[in-house]
Amino acid sequence: MPILFISDLHLSHERPEKLALFFELLRGPARRAQALYILGDLVEVWIGDDDTTPPHPEILAALADFSRTGRPLYVMHGNRDFLLGSRFEILTGAQLIADPSVIDLYEVKTLLMHGDLLCTKDTAYQRFRRHVRAPDWQRRALALPLAERAALAGQLRADSQSAMQQKAMAIMDVDPEAVEQTMIAHGVAQLIHGHTHRPAIHRFTLNGQAARRIVLGDWYGAGEIVFYDEQGPNLIDVETCLARF
Ligand code: MN
Repeated sequence: MPILFISDLHLSHERPEKLALFFELLRGPARRAQALYILGDLVEVWIGDDDTTPPHPEILAALADFSRTGRPLYVMHGNRDFLLGSRFEILTGAQLIADPSVIDLYEVKTLLMHGDLLCTKDTAYQRFRRHVRAPDWQRRALALPLAERAALAGQLRADSQSAMQQKAMAIMDVDPEAVEQTMIAHGVAQLIHGHTHRPAIHRFTLNGQAARRIVLGDWYGAGEIVFYDEQGPNLIDVETCLARF
């Protein structure tokens, strides 16, 4: 049975067709898999587990349905949904996993990340990330009324979008040196991540060893999925996955 990896779905009420695809995936191929990993940015924005803005309740219910089949569901924080918390875990049966995490994938030690930590050339973003990931900042943010949190999230997003327009494409991709250093530090020759929206399987040599970096795609476009079995990784689009499995 395969293990499925997805990320960067950016689910929101603005793209009902992607929501439908996700629900189909949960009812179909994901149930024929060993486990499902969501490596960040499941939703477009998450301002706390008490946010019941549509389509969040529907998403929680679909994830809970999936979990009831007994298959493990692992969720990593992305830069859009880093406020997913313990209530989300209770409501869905998902297990939040750290970024980065190391897993054993058919006997291949594999590093899982959202991917934003590898964009080290974007120093302004890394500074912002450290700021909003601090437990103190999160405690204060989550204590705000929902409407204020929504306004804050909108402001942060507008700031990030205007900043992105100033940045060169290379700055917003992963830094190859950071990739190598992080893989070496974790003793892995395989990395799976999302975030950059540049789906690909990169093969290279690391310390004289064959290494692989598998990049998931986003669901603004077709949506990609990594279907990983004994033979290794297959990077396929979601529609193909639904049709085949
Ligand atoms: Mn991201």
